[in-house]
Amino acid sequence: MSVTPTVLYDSHGRPLEYVRLAVTDRCNLRCFYCMPEEGIQYVPRQELLTYEEMTRLVTLLAGLGVRKVRLTGGEPFVRRGLMGFIEQLTHIHGINDISLTTNGVLTAPHVPELARMGVRAVNLSLDTLDRARFHQITRRDELPQVLDTFYALLAAGIRVKINAVVMDGQNIQDLVPLAELTRDLPVEMRFIEEMPFNGGSHAATLPWNHRRIREHLEQHFGAFTPLPTPVGATASEYSVAGHQGTIGIIAAYSRTFCGTCNRIRLTAEGGLKTCLYDQGVLDIRAMLRGGSSDADIVAALTNAFRYRAANGFEAESQRPLHQLSFESMSTIGG
Ligand code: SAM
Ligand code: SF4
Repeated sequence: MSVTPTVLYDSHGRPLEYVRLAVTDRCNLRCFYCMPEEGIQYVPRQELLTYEEMTRLVTLLAGLGVRKVRLTGGEPFVRRGLMGFIEQLTHIHGINDISLTTNGVLTAPHVPELARMGVRAVNLSLDTLDRARFHQITRRDELPQVLDTFYALLAAGIRVKINAVVMDGQNIQDLVPLAELTRDLPVEMRFIEEMPFNGGSHAATLPWNHRRIREHLEQHFGAFTPLPTPVGATASEYSVAGHQGTIGIIAAYSRTFCGTCNRIRLTAEGGLKTCLYDQGVLDIRAMLRGGSSDADIVAALTNAFRYRAANGFEAESQRPLHQLSFESMSTIGG
């Protein structure tokens, strides 16, 4: 059936134009802030959405005005057939912006093909440039492969944003060296407040909030100049005198940006999240596999956003008591 193009708005008048799709919950790293070292219960393979199911969903969302898709995970490149799936996405009418968030371990060989398919931007997670600390934080010794991806992306002309989670006692000494990358390279270096989505591996407190991160960096680089913030952006962006690239600071735990949030999140098992901090509001996999029509799915999606929380604090307060300890970010996609 053909779906009438319209724009999906939430109950607070925010247009939803951007879907983040976790294509898997599996990962080849074990980042300290994201997962426990052991004992991870992966979703059984048959419970992950298939690429065909994801393509159907993205097509329906494009009919509702979604223009941008970001593939995330888990690590997207550990799922077989990812590149073929991206190719399918490029053929969906209305989708004009496809991007990825990756840890970069397996990504480098695919970079030329990503560029050919028109992938415009890649977010690369990198919390330190020091090999021993990379090993300690991710519990794997893979920094050289990640740096290969970084340089391959730059060489291919794909826009690179580097994401570093700021962790007390883990990588504070790395913030300035990471920010130094922006001096000669046209990258956005983004520092993210640590959130509690670590699958219960440790209690997350927030000794390094967005203000402290900025002060720390400004002590070294001098005062930052704030740049205009595009609607829906999560990072506050800054330029540094004499630097080619920019600095972004994401108040992910302080949640300063919820007012313009334009994101739809789909977990690897087909759960719809209307907010990073909610516990999942709709089981779309059950609809896809239970024979629901396109019209039924569109109606359920539209309805879910009628009851969207105003911000991440409200969404968190609505979690059932037994879900107050947060799942791993690898199941949500960030
Ligand atoms: N595996 C890919 C990667 O690491 O880029 C994609 C998935 S990962 C869950 C997406 C983003 O979430 C990464 O940039 C990661 O740094 C971030 N992230 C994971 N756990 C986090 C946490 N507890 N607090 C803040 N950011 C987190
Ligand atoms: Fe894997 Fe990304 Fe989570 Fe690190 S942040 S464990 S790379 S999913």
